[in-house]
Amino acid sequence: MSIIGDPSATSRPVTSRPATAHPEPAERAAVIDPAAIRHNVRTIASYVEPAKVLVAVKAEGYGHGAVTAARAALEGGADWLGTAHVSEALVLRTAGIQAPLLAWLHTRATDFAAAITEHIDLGISGWEIHHVARAAESLQKPARVHLKIDTGLGRNGCTIEEWPELLRLAAQYQDRGLLSVEGIFTHLAVADEPDRRETDDQLQVYRHALELAEAHRIVPDLRHVANTPGAFSRPDAHFDMVRVGVGVYGHSPFADRTAEDLGLRPAMELRTTVANVKQVPTGQGISYGLTHRVDRPTSLALIPLGYADGIPRVAVHAPVWINGRRYRSVGRVAMDQFVVDLGERETDVQVGDDVVIFGGSSGIEAADWGSAAGTINYEIITRIGERVPRIVVDSDLAAGLATGSVPTAASPASAASPTPPRGPA
Ligand SMILES: *Cc1c(COP(=O)(O)O)cnc(C)c1O
Repeated sequence: MSIIGDPSATSRPVTSRPATAHPEPAERAAVIDPAAIRHNVRTIASYVEPAKVLVAVKAEGYGHGAVTAARAALEGGADWLGTAHVSEALVLRTAGIQAPLLAWLHTRATDFAAAITEHIDLGISGWEIHHVARAAESLQKPARVHLKIDTGLGRNGCTIEEWPELLRLAAQYQDRGLLSVEGIFTHLAVADEPDRRETDDQLQVYRHALELAEAHRIVPDLRHVANTPGAFSRPDAHFDMVRVGVGVYGHSPFADRTAEDLGLRPAMELRTTVANVKQVPTGQGISYGLTHRVDRPTSLALIPLGYADGIPRVAVHAPVWINGRRYRSVGRVAMDQFVVDLGERETDVQVGDDVVIFGGSSGIEAADWGSAAGTINYEIITRIGERVPRIVVDSDLAAGLATGSVPTAASPASAASPTPPRGPA
């Protein structure tokens, strides 16, 4: 059979789309479902209550679009939003988001004055405190800060040795009306491995840090420690608030528990369509370096996503969903494309058929691509490139329209048909 030709001339329908069908599929898209984000926030909030929930929307909302993610998180009941950088928090304010915001990773170039003006709370690990106090003084407006203690992660945060000095400075600036300490926080190193005792050690150091703070008359309302793995595995780390990211986007931080096990729904489906199909003989080499050769006559599907789109170049034998069946990638991922072995010479896969890399109804998780590339689901979802448009499709709204009911509380981000990506993708 020749497979060069007009697919519309064949009798078979060109595509059979998965359940999350889109009226006009884009050439490639990360389809973002705010309903999944709302569901995941509600799930985590009910699990950790009465603790509050800060949703991390750094790194463009873990690749989902910062504003889309932030709005959906707030609709799902998030109390706070968090970003690494002040510049990321400012983007949310510009988009009209008024919720409490915390930014915690700063450099000498950070615009602390803008943060204070835009009522963005600032994580403080040490040196920043003087810069923040100076900005507050010139604005005649106190900064709201959360002091960060390094309880063992060895990354950002104040060491326990320097903690008393940071507390002394904070108390002094607070007395002068230049700042108010709203929170004390730390970050866990191994909460994704719940049996490791380093988490106990970290919590012990944290409690000691709280006692020292109290001795300096610093007793903030918001003690916060747990990330997603801590929220699920360490109730003793919930304190007044948890800071969750990956779980909100519907992914598990644990190696041995899936998102489904945790009651979470992936909020991103990465999809495209087959760009080419060809039959090849035994021995055909695949892609740069010819690192793979087929061991029987077969056919190959070309997938128009590559490392420039965030598909890891090192991924091999990664799962790919085409028309309801699972196949495996072969050979090196190139900048714009990679190849899937369809396993047989006579295939019903055609140019234009739907392809899902992960998410949706494919049953493939970002974690599966993580395994194929020697990395984790966090990296897979956050590295999707700018060339891939984020298309927001609210599954609650789509379902409502399908049954003819009119949703009453439509979010501005929601649409039953693809909308342009919100904010920089
Ligand atoms: C990113 C981040 C989080 C969220 O971590 P997840 O594992 O994605 O839940 C929490 N706290 C801090 C300080 C972070 O940088």
